[in-house]
Amino acid sequence: FSRLTSGLRRSSEKLTESVSAVFTKRKLDAAAIEELEELLIAADLGPAAAMRVTDRLARDRFDKDVTDEEVKDALAATIEETLKPLEAPLDFSSGPRPEIVLFVGVNGSGKTTTLGKIAATLTRAGKKTLLVAGDTFRAAAVEQVSVWGERAGAPVEKREIGADAAGLAYDAVSRAQRDGFDVVLIDTAGRLQTKTALMDELRKIVRVIRKLDETAPHRVILVLDGTVGANAVSQAEAFLEASQVTGLVMTKLDGTAKGGALVQVADRFQLPVHAIGIGEGIDDLQPFDARAFARALSG
Ligand code: GDP
Repeated sequence: FSRLTSGLRRSSEKLTESVSAVFTKRKLDAAAIEELEELLIAADLGPAAAMRVTDRLARDRFDKDVTDEEVKDALAATIEETLKPLEAPLDFSSGPRPEIVLFVGVNGSGKTTTLGKIAATLTRAGKKTLLVAGDTFRAAAVEQVSVWGERAGAPVEKREIGADAAGLAYDAVSRAQRDGFDVVLIDTAGRLQTKTALMDELRKIVRVIRKLDETAPHRVILVLDGTVGANAVSQAEAFLEASQVTGLVMTKLDGTAKGGALVQVADRFQLPVHAIGIGEGIDDLQPFDARAFARALSG
């Protein structure tokens, strides 16, 4: 996990420096607890997780001296405990066939890249995978799915710019059913500015593919950009409203100073975490490991 560790170094350095500044052998009184809670919230952990860290410490250390190492240990333990039940590495071995997966998230969050990385893993494992360039409004988005299809060795369903995304998804799923595909990965548009249009489009895609398989989509993966910090919470809220999100991928955790937001979003919405993005390359998606993440973040 060296890349994750170095990627989250800036998050953890910032956090542990401020922990050390506050807690170099200091009595854990009410003021110290408040200060610690504030700096954990500033690190985007969210109020609930921040309070769990201080509660854990205060349980047996209240009004006693604590060291920064003890604080970091409590932080790591709390993050691990929070995220362990939500650790959900992707597994396509026992799902329905074809398993239909929708990717949702704001433009630029790393949706297409994540879809491409997952496609590559699937084709390497011998899974017949179909990619769908469902953001039919942006030529660059369609082009990018095509590039990833080539990299991953997977065919791509696409249409001309401006075409109906739901119609495209319908054709793609029909093709997948007819030609014995194992997995269908559908990219979608992520224009949050027009929330009702976004919701309508996602709902229409779902409605239309349910005509072919009433249990579809089998997964709706929300992709969040790790560099936006606590803004990830409102993004998650919007997409949870627009679709039935089943799990989460957080990208760009290489070199971000905002890794704490993953804790807040997963915790608040109790969303399973599938993987984290740690770079732009084909192998830069790591199955989520709560313990490794907790350790990397708390330094
Ligand atoms: P989309 O609009 O949501 O489909 O986002 P893209 O997949 O096009 O990604 C937006 C940009 O972020 C691209 O330049 C990607 O190469 C980059 N990107 C995606 N994931 C990661 C990641 O984990 N780390 C880094 N450093 N860049 C990423």
